[in-house]
Amino acid sequence: MDIGRILENILTSLNITRGTSFDVFAIIDIGFTSYIIYKALLWVRETRAWSLFKGIVVLILTSIISYTFNLYTVSWIISNTFNVGIIAIIIIFQPEIRKMLEKLGSGRLNVALVKMENSGISAKNLDEILVSIDTMRKSRTGALIVLEDEVPLGEHVSTGVPLDAKITSQLIVNIFEDKTPLHDGAIIIKNNEIAAASCILPLTNKEIGKSLGTRHRAGVGVSEYSDAFVLILSEETGALSLAHKGILQRNIKEEDVRKIIRFKETELVKKKKKKRKRKKIKWGKEGGK
Ligand code: ATP
Ligand code: MG
Repeated sequence: MDIGRILENILTSLNITRGTSFDVFAIIDIGFTSYIIYKALLWVRETRAWSLFKGIVVLILTSIISYTFNLYTVSWIISNTFNVGIIAIIIIFQPEIRKMLEKLGSGRLNVALVKMENSGISAKNLDEILVSIDTMRKSRTGALIVLEDEVPLGEHVSTGVPLDAKITSQLIVNIFEDKTPLHDGAIIIKNNEIAAASCILPLTNKEIGKSLGTRHRAGVGVSEYSDAFVLILSEETGALSLAHKGILQRNIKEEDVRKIIRFKETELVKKKKKKRKRKKIKWGKEGGK
């Protein structure tokens, strides 16, 4: 079969034959499908699915060979492997599929759909947190502090002990004090309150550095599925790290944390102001009618 023929077959299967006018929906359809395939391939590369993908390619090649040379038994084994394989893949890759769906669910569109009014952390509360970090650094106490933003972290809050407490540096230091009941795990700050302590976070699969353990993995993990800022204070080195959108900035200074978070808040306030302005103009116009 020559290339022209193959192309013609593809175009026919996509309902695009010569002489048919391209409609805009076909372009959207092709664009969307390409994007999904691209994302799926990226996902396959990043996860354990890469080895599986290579295995499937080998199976497909074997099935083509067995079909070409009429190897009936091999064909029969492969076709049955495919049938059972689909179910096996879903079971084996349940954690990856779940993470992928969670990631999909934390996208911008979905955030807009489930968005709650979250005013971000106040300057005073951020100061309390940074003071607590300074105190804990001096006593070499480890800490994991998650600042929830627009993506709700209710699922992780529910893994911990609910507190709904006012943010004070003393309370945070107390929570992370070694050998106390709440010191293990993370605290999650939500709507300017400590929503819960001892929360279990998802660990990242990414390579983040050999010297870093589960505290850092958990901090990066939760930042991959949300827009939260995560502060990680190392018990071993006393170094502070900031995780956001899956990226870990190590050895960050408190002052820089303040700047980064404040910058984001200012952007948010600006956006809200713009939105309000637009609404006012709209109302003004409607009122003038
Ligand atoms: P450090 O530099 O402080 O030693 P680390 O990155 O090396 O940090 P570990 O030494 O493994 O990490 O820290 C273990 C602590 O991390 C646990 O005691 C617990 O408080 C916290 N932790 C571990 N796993 C999780 C998780 N899934 N969610 C939240 N916290 C976790
Ligand atoms: Mg450690």
